[in-house]
Amino acid sequence: MLGWGVVKGLGVTFRHFVETYVEDIKYFTKRGMGQTLLEYRMAPESRGIYTMQYPKEKPVIPERFRFLPFLVTNYEGPEADKRREANRCTSCGICAKACPPQCIWIVRTTNKQGRPVPQPADFHIDMDICMNCGYCAEFCPFDAIIMDHDYALADEKREPDHVFGLEHLLKPAGYYHEIRPAQFVAREEERRLAEEEKRRKAAAKAAALAARKAAKNKEA
Ligand code: SF4
Ligand code: SF4
Repeated sequence: MLGWGVVKGLGVTFRHFVETYVEDIKYFTKRGMGQTLLEYRMAPESRGIYTMQYPKEKPVIPERFRFLPFLVTNYEGPEADKRREANRCTSCGICAKACPPQCIWIVRTTNKQGRPVPQPADFHIDMDICMNCGYCAEFCPFDAIIMDHDYALADEKREPDHVFGLEHLLKPAGYYHEIRPAQFVAREEERRLAEEEKRRKAAAKAAALAARKAAKNKEA
């Protein structure tokens, strides 16, 4: 029928209009549920339309939201040297290889003999090139690079502000826990189990070696 599509479209608009008020009334009758109106309206099961007074009000960010990557340090204090020392990154370079637009640069540390030390001397990410894919965080074997929730980064200059260096990238593990609690707990458990398995294998190897030595001594 001619014009049926328009009627259907208006019907959708009208449904959203009514649902907006229904949801607001539902929220105010259920007050005390521990959510703000914005949290309630942003939940996937909520219907209708809502507005947000940004930047006075900020959206509720789901745990899996990803913006730009940051590096994790196990030191929670403000001292820059300790933050660097407790950096989880081993400068293995896997994230830089996996990054599709190649916006990660890592400078490896070497000791006096020129041997590699598992610590980055510097680490840069060009945030204007980063496409927020999260591959670096997916591929890192040490849970050392994580996708951040901080999206309010607008400023006036590209350089050096948008090419983040090591100092800028390092954030404490406590912050990681705060923004991604479920992932943090799951990955820490994985790391703990992997460490346990490594220790168990090392102990078994040492025991086997000791047994072989004892057997040899007996024969002699
Ligand atoms: S962040 Fe992870 S993958 Fe990237 S260099 Fe450091 S340890 Fe390797
Ligand atoms: S999020 Fe993607 S594009 Fe950005 S640094 Fe990581 S791998 Fe590269």
